[in-house]
Amino acid sequence: MNADELPALRDELEAHGLWANKGLGQHFLLDLNITRRIASTAGDLAERPVIEVGPGPGGLTRALLEAGAHVTAIEKDARFLPLLEPLIAWSEGRLSIVQGDALEVNECDLVDDTRADVISNLPYNVGTPLLVKWLKAGSWRGNMTLMFQKEVAQRIVAKPRSDAYGRLAVLAQARCNARLEFTVPARAFTPPPKIASAIVRLTDLDDPYPHLDALERVTAAAFGQRRKMLRSALRALTPEPEPLLLEADINPTARAEEIDQMGFRRLTEAWRAASP
Ligand code: SAM
Repeated sequence: MNADELPALRDELEAHGLWANKGLGQHFLLDLNITRRIASTAGDLAERPVIEVGPGPGGLTRALLEAGAHVTAIEKDARFLPLLEPLIAWSEGRLSIVQGDALEVNECDLVDDTRADVISNLPYNVGTPLLVKWLKAGSWRGNMTLMFQKEVAQRIVAKPRSDAYGRLAVLAQARCNARLEFTVPARAFTPPPKIASAIVRLTDLDDPYPHLDALERVTAAAFGQRRKMLRSALRALTPEPEPLLLEADINPTARAEEIDQMGFRRLTEAWRAASP
């Protein structure tokens, strides 16, 4: 199966009179070289179940199907459904489209009892909430290969003592190994966004931290006032942070950006143990 045999994506958009709706974060990848590179970054996709959010005109979907994946694509914008119809026929039963909002979809309903990878050129306006939703997801979720704005990608993979390090890095790295794979310049998209994007690959840790909701609360307080010492910043979480910090073996005068993944896990455990 070779996606080069399909009509050019630009011609398809024109034939259907479709234009990008910026309110839905629509910046399309029409160059198959880039979408093939994203698909190959995701590893061997032959016969793998994959969830893609926002197929739009289907550039990445074509590359995923060409690589042998079984794709369930969730698209909010109904205008694209007629354009995607021929792709369903071409896929020989390996593509299904769900019209809806990916934030509200229950992925368990889509993937039976198999683990699905998530591979997507994400709409920027909902990229972060979708990532957090998937980090918290249960057993249906496999590895993720996702396009974000470059600045968000850097925040996901950031290490302590850097400006980009914050809540998103701690949450993502509590569940996954996170790697920034490559940057995609703004001009690669139609229409081009204002800034560059980057592909992040997130693979599951052997020892994922299970209490992500609690970790989210702790990191929200800790980084909510990131310039303050933790003994003050954590008052947003609890009236007396100091005993928790000592219990977690963290210096109460430290700042959030100095605390690594294991430190945040210990702090969250101390807070959970002390919470009624
Ligand atoms: N995958 C296509 C590509 O790479 O050319 C389009 C990517 S574009 C950045 C984002 C896509 O997500 C658009 O098709 C948009 O309509 C869709 N979208 C936006 N918000 C969505 C949501 N909440 N749920 C599902 N799809 C959404």
